[in-house]
Amino acid sequence: MPSKHLSPDLLASIAATDAVDPAHAAGCDACRADLDAMRRLVAGLRVLPDPPARRSPSRCSGSTTPISRSGLAPCSSTPAAQVAPG
Ligand SMILES: [Zn+2]
Repeated sequence: MPSKHLSPDLLASIAATDAVDPAHAAGCDACRADLDAMRRLVAGLRVLPDPPARRSPSRCSGSTTPISRSGLAPCSSTPAAQVAPG
């Protein structure tokens, strides 16, 4: 069946999974070129470093907090006057 070229989806899945070239690609320069380009793209994506892990900003990171100048403790999670006297 020499009619249809490989679809971009198929090319992508072949490139992503390191599958063997389909028979059509062996006889079709255009599809082989597409597959080659797709493989290069996939390889390029693989060498990219992982994105930095998203860290939630911690409120009590301690040392340098601009708020603490005005007397507000940045980490005042312990209420002082909550204990009922007696
Ligand atoms: Zn083709």
